[in-house]
Amino acid sequence: MESMVSTGAARRLLDEFRAIVGDENVIHHPEDLLVFEYDGSVDRGMPEAVVFPSSTEEVSQVMALTYKEGVPVVGRGAGTGLSGGAIAPPGGIQISFTRMNRILDVDTENRTATVEPGVINLDLDTYAHRFGLRYAPDPSSQSACSLGGNIAENAGGPHCLAYGTTTNHVLGMEVVLEDGSVVNFGGSAREVPGYDLRGVFTGSEGTFGLATKITLRLLPLPEAVKTFLGIFPDVDSACTAVSAVIGHGIVPAALEMIDALSIKAVQNVMDAGYPEDAGAVLLIELEGLQEEVDEIGAEVEAALWESGPTQVRVAEAADERANLWVGRKGALGALGSIAPNYYLVDGVVPRTQLTQVLRQVARISEKYGIPIANVFHAGDGNLHPCLLFDERKPGALETIVQAGAEVMQVCVDAGGTLTGEHGVGLEKKELMPLVFSDEDMGVMIRVREAFAPDNRLNPGKIFPDGSHYQPPARRPEPGMTI
Ligand SMILES: Cc1cc2nc3c(=O)[nH]c(=O)nc-3n(C[C@H](O)[C@H](O)[C@H](O)COP(=O)(O)OP(=O)(O)OC[C@H]3O[C@@H](n4cnc5c(N)ncnc54)[C@H](O)[C@@H]3O)c2cc1C
Repeated sequence: MESMVSTGAARRLLDEFRAIVGDENVIHHPEDLLVFEYDGSVDRGMPEAVVFPSSTEEVSQVMALTYKEGVPVVGRGAGTGLSGGAIAPPGGIQISFTRMNRILDVDTENRTATVEPGVINLDLDTYAHRFGLRYAPDPSSQSACSLGGNIAENAGGPHCLAYGTTTNHVLGMEVVLEDGSVVNFGGSAREVPGYDLRGVFTGSEGTFGLATKITLRLLPLPEAVKTFLGIFPDVDSACTAVSAVIGHGIVPAALEMIDALSIKAVQNVMDAGYPEDAGAVLLIELEGLQEEVDEIGAEVEAALWESGPTQVRVAEAADERANLWVGRKGALGALGSIAPNYYLVDGVVPRTQLTQVLRQVARISEKYGIPIANVFHAGDGNLHPCLLFDERKPGALETIVQAGAEVMQVCVDAGGTLTGEHGVGLEKKELMPLVFSDEDMGVMIRVREAFAPDNRLNPGKIFPDGSHYQPPARRPEPGMTI
């Protein structure tokens, strides 16, 4: 497609964007656009321009303009997405929310926060701590990802086991639709009369509208926290322990698994306190009143010891706990110490199937000769096999994508599904028929049409259209993919 900026019409459009957001808030030179070409996934797509609005009014004006001119648009938060969601459609522009990053209000009595979409997840949580409150959904990318991106992907995180994913914490939102009109869903109350459009919008992957203001639920900080590190000789016994803990009727705040390869990666870059000779470790966190945490903690320890660990450690001091979590949340980045690239498969399986699914993942690893690291939300059955590779080797990426599809098939065959938290985006759209019929997807498309009848927002995502993964013409240097 001819570049938008090579024509007089395109130059006029850029001038009109500048008139709305200011000269310095529009970029279109290819070298400036490089970092906007990708997210955390393996797909690529160069936007024609990126526009950085600072208010709902500016977003609305930009959208009205692109609508009139027939230009596709994709919203962009921090670009940490792992399914290609923020990658621009051909001929499209990105609207980046990095300048809309203010926490507008924290209502301590009603325990709500109202934010602009570019606020970083951890910044809200840290700010809420001043008032004895917290924002519970905590993706491992929380120090970088935006709340707008979290809503679009219905992000999860270690503590979503007990508190639910983003959708359980969104009360209301202001949204700009594809034609620039501004609408509001929900409010600051928990219940909404009529259709629950805030629930429908959450997880819509940027295809329904762009959220410009969001009201979120805050929770009180817990009185006591206790973190257990269960150390196991192998993945099988760690999986047994997951079932044992849940089987005791305990729902911890978090229950995460880190396998041997991931432990090696973490310990390569920091000492998180994970033993390097372990086959797998479980990180289990309990929160609540002191008495409750002590009582349930004794049950957790008993359940862990039933499953053949080599050791069970308890971390009660804040710095010791923080260290364990820095290791877990930094594990994906640490994989860079083992291989230049990874391809993360986000699948969900029933918890009871964890052992057999991970055995099959190990078989796929052997079949393709690809190292696979597993670091994941075990309590939710939300697997994250990370296929390690070197993108510089010819054919490596194509092999990885094929092996990833096999992992996905294993998850679906085990009664699971395609994604727990990263969305479908570009990455999994051709796999949608594994779990949805044409009729199922037809209903989803009709819902999208109610919000975006012209499909001008993030087109080409979620639904299969035969455009299988195409390797990009220009490869980034290794290490550029997260
Ligand atoms: C190391 C690492 C660890 C991760 N761990 C987790 C995890 O534990 N849990 C988890 O859920 N995810 C995780 N992710 C994935 C990613 O961080 C999340 O999907 C996150 O929600 C994306 O936020 P973002 O701001 O980066 O969005 P982007 O990647 O910029 O965009 C994601 C989608 O959101 C849309 N979007 C952005 N802003 C808006 C808006 N204002 N209105 C409407 N649509 C919008 C985009 O169009 C796109 O479709 C991880 C990623 C990395 C790299």
